[in-house]
Amino acid sequence: MSALEVRNLVKEYRLRNGRHSSILKAVDDVSFSIDSGRTVALVGQSGSGKSTLAKLLMQLERPTTGSIMLDGAPVRRAGAGLRQYRSDVQMVFQDPFASLNPYHSIAHHLGRPLILHGKAKGRDEVMAGVAKLLERVRLDPDMAQRKPHELSGGQRQRIAIARALAPEPKILVADEPVSMLDVSIRLGVLNLLADLQREENLGVFYITHDLATARHFSDDILVMFRGRIVERGPADDVILNP
Ligand code: ADP
Ligand code: ADP
Repeated sequence: MSALEVRNLVKEYRLRNGRHSSILKAVDDVSFSIDSGRTVALVGQSGSGKSTLAKLLMQLERPTTGSIMLDGAPVRRAGAGLRQYRSDVQMVFQDPFASLNPYHSIAHHLGRPLILHGKAKGRDEVMAGVAKLLERVRLDPDMAQRKPHELSGGQRQRIAIARALAPEPKILVADEPVSMLDVSIRLGVLNLLADLQREENLGVFYITHDLATARHFSDDILVMFRGRIVERGPADDVILNP
């Protein structure tokens, strides 16, 4: 059974120009699944619908039609089911700085989700949990006392990944996770995601416009164009016709 399964997902936006309006299918009949311990890459040029699909997966927007299932059960739109989904599916954003609070320590950033998701309570347990999260993203435990501006871009993105790991998710949605980072540190962060997928049996949804890293870091590739998946297959087989 696939951890995350998407069936015939459609997201329409109504576009208005003057008195006229038209329908844009930003996501058009998309189906795929992500198994635990697998990385699926979503590749497509700007405007192809990748972010819309990510927003649907994160339950930030509702699909017009279609369904999202986690471990075989349809995702609930409210209540405990939605809360569970929001801890099982976590996201890492393109800009690590934007998602961190400059006035909060790293310990705070990592400690809070541990408490909120019931993974630790009491100061000692929380700080031990924070240290463990730092270890999982290969950062020094001393980082806990720092603030985001005292870290490098790559370190900040590792913190964002650590925070996403805090609720012990099954699926990590990584939307262009390295495109704002220095080229020299991109591979380190992508290798970390690959290690987590392998060692912790995480399902990773890697959204990118970069086919080369998609090939290298994923098992399967989906190619999106104008809202539709126009090509799909094992990473070695998919050939983009530019
Ligand atoms: P990508 O992430 O691949 O660049 P997006 O998902 O951001 O693509 O956009 C897909 C299409 O949907 C674009 O044409 C975009 O203009 C449109 N779109 C995205 N969000 C909205 C919205 N909230 N309202 C109207 N159109 C939108
Ligand atoms: P900040 O600098 O952001 O205020 P602190 O260094 O004060 O953060 O605290 C770090 C984090 O450690 C807190 O946000 C909290 O998650 C956790 N923490 C500290 N003390 C306790 C406590 N007594 N019980 C539970 N969690 C705690």
